Amino acid sequence: MGTGMRTGQNERRLASPNGQGLGLLTAAATVLFSIACSRTSAPAAPALPYPKIDVHTHVSASHAAQAVNLFRENGIDVAVNASGGLLGQGLATSRDLAASTGGRLLYYCNVDFAEADAADWPQRAIQMVDDCKRLGARGVKIFKALGLGYRTSDGNLLAVDDPRLDILFERAGALGLPVLIHSGDPVAFFTPPTRENERFEELQAHPGWSFFGESAPGRPWPSWDELFAQYERRVARHPHTTFIGAHFGNAAEYPQRVAQMFARYPNLVIDTAARVPEFGRHPASEMRAFFIRWQDRILFGSDTGIDEEGLSLGSHGRERDRAERLPAFFAAHWRYFETDTRRMATPTPIQGRWTIDGIHLPAAVLRKIYAQNAMRILHIQLPATNPH
Ligand SMILES: [Zn+2]
Repeated sequence: MGTGMRTGQNERRLASPNGQGLGLLTAAATVLFSIACSRTSAPAAPALPYPKIDVHTHVSASHAAQAVNLFRENGIDVAVNASGGLLGQGLATSRDLAASTGGRLLYYCNVDFAEADAADWPQRAIQMVDDCKRLGARGVKIFKALGLGYRTSDGNLLAVDDPRLDILFERAGALGLPVLIHSGDPVAFFTPPTRENERFEELQAHPGWSFFGESAPGRPWPSWDELFAQYERRVARHPHTTFIGAHFGNAAEYPQRVAQMFARYPNLVIDTAARVPEFGRHPASEMRAFFIRWQDRILFGSDTGIDEEGLSLGSHGRERDRAERLPAFFAAHWRYFETDTRRMATPTPIQGRWTIDGIHLPAAVLRKIYAQNAMRILHIQLPATNPH
């Protein structure tokens, strides 16, 4: 991945291959013919849709039944709820819902870092992870509030790599619980939230998502790079713990950094949640090569949220999304992964008003990303009634 890979649509079109320099008419004709084919031959829909597991969703217990129906209608066989809760705060309900939905709505547990500098934190950390395992969670989900929300008693933000937390990550690894971790946020959220900001519309709807300036009087927010470094040190420190780097490994703007981490840390996999619009901006040929190279390390996730207030499809504006938009949201994902459609709308337009080019992945790679990798890493079985 070259450093200049993040190009806009116009540059990309200018740089597209066109058979320049071929002297022989026959050779040129062959090239043009094959380009024409590759441009127009979106693969036929598979005879049966690929089995699919969405490893990154947020579902409230009160809307679990509706969510499972919506997922099924949109081809998702199993969804994993990243808002599964803690013991005493929803975790037992999540377990019951997994049973009552026949394993179609699984869950991660969450953990609380509110008093990570208390004397009894090590015991509490162990207890939280043990509860998580005992109640059947697929893994532990850590929100971006670690690094951007929780504070220690001195008023500083609790860092993703704070050594006091090591015990929690070690315990998760010892119990075979993968850790889905969201650290930082889009790069644009760390730059001034002005009209020039490429996510201005999203930041206008959610001013609290900006991490530019000060987090508290006299205390600047950490930079995007600082948070990414904290996250990388965390992954590096626990080679026996599997990490699922949420949102394209927390670096959809920089696939080459994700690739570097893949090469360095065999314990790292990533999900695609809410970042097709962002990583889809890189040239399709480079993203296709990335997905093929790392086909065993990428899990499909959408970040679909379904709760009392409505839906959130990767992100949302001031108003929540309506369920009627869900088919278009998922279809945009399948079109990106499965076809070579050019200049298509992204699944989540509020993230930015640009288009993306599909990467037309081979069927074997799609099967891994859509379900097989999740089955292996999160120990998930497709429901028995699955027709595939
Ligand atoms: Zn999420």
